[in-house]
Amino acid sequence: MAKEPAVDQEKCIGCGLCTSICPNVFELGADGKAHVKNPGGDAEQKIQEAIDGCPVKAISWKK
Ligand code: SF4
Repeated sequence: MAKEPAVDQEKCIGCGLCTSICPNVFELGADGKAHVKNPGGDAEQKIQEAIDGCPVKAISWKK
């Protein structure tokens, strides 16, 4: 099964980076935090880019 990302809402500052790199995976919710809307929406490589780019390291792969 493909790996799935998860966002730690406690850490997320809603900067919008992950939603701009992977618009099909992440979306900003009404709470101003990123949420996973479709874990398989973009390539794993792009998701890894979002994980590496998140300024507060709020995104990780689910085990
Ligand atoms: S890149 Fe990180 S801090 Fe920015 S919206 Fe995504 S999860 Fe939140």
